Amino acid sequence: MRFILYSGVRAWYRIGAMRCPYCNSTDSRVTDSRPDIEDAIIRRRRVCNQCGAKFTTVERVQMRDLLVRKNSGKVEQFDREKLRRSIKLACRNREVSDDQIEKLVTSIHRRLETETIDDAVSSGTVGQMVSDSLLNLDPIAFVRFVSVYRKFSRIADFKKIINQIPEIDDDSDTASVCALPKTSLF
Ligand SMILES: [Zn+2]
Repeated sequence: MRFILYSGVRAWYRIGAMRCPYCNSTDSRVTDSRPDIEDAIIRRRRVCNQCGAKFTTVERVQMRDLLVRKNSGKVEQFDREKLRRSIKLACRNREVSDDQIEKLVTSIHRRLETETIDDAVSSGTVGQMVSDSLLNLDPIAFVRFVSVYRKFSRIADFKKIINQIPEIDDDSDTASVCALPKTSLF
C-alpha cells in the first residue's frame, strides 16, 4: 500500500519534471540559473543524476496564448519553433547568427502578444512582421522568406519583389535567392 502511494506521488511529480534528453530520466538537479532580462527568459543549467549529462533548460514568460489563423481559415497555436525554423531556413549560409535569429523571433513573438488584440492573428500579419524584420537584417533572407510565404511561382515574382528593395547591392548573386526549396511555413 505504501509503495502504491509512493509511486503515485512520483508519477504526479514527473508530470512537471524535466526529462534528461540523453537518458530520459526526470532526476536532475539545477547547477546554475541565469536570467536574461532582455529576452525575458531564465536559463537553467542542469545535471542529470542518472547519467551525468549536462543540459540547459529555458523558461520563458508567456504573456498569453497566441493563435494563428491560416489562409485556409484553420486556427492553430502559435508555434515559436516553427517561426524560428522558417527564419533560420531563410538565413541559411548568410551572415546571420543564431543569436540574431533568436532575438528576431523574440521580438516578433512579443509584438504579436502585445500589438494584436484579436483572439487569433492572421498568418499574413505574422508573415508581414517577419518580412519587415528580415528586410532590415538581410535582403537575401528577406527575398527567400517572402518567396516561400507568398508562394512565388514565377521568376517575375522575384523580379517584382527585388525591385521593391531599396538600394539593393548590384553585385549580389540573385541565383542563390531562388535556391530555396518550397515549404509550407504558416
Ligand atoms: Zn540522463
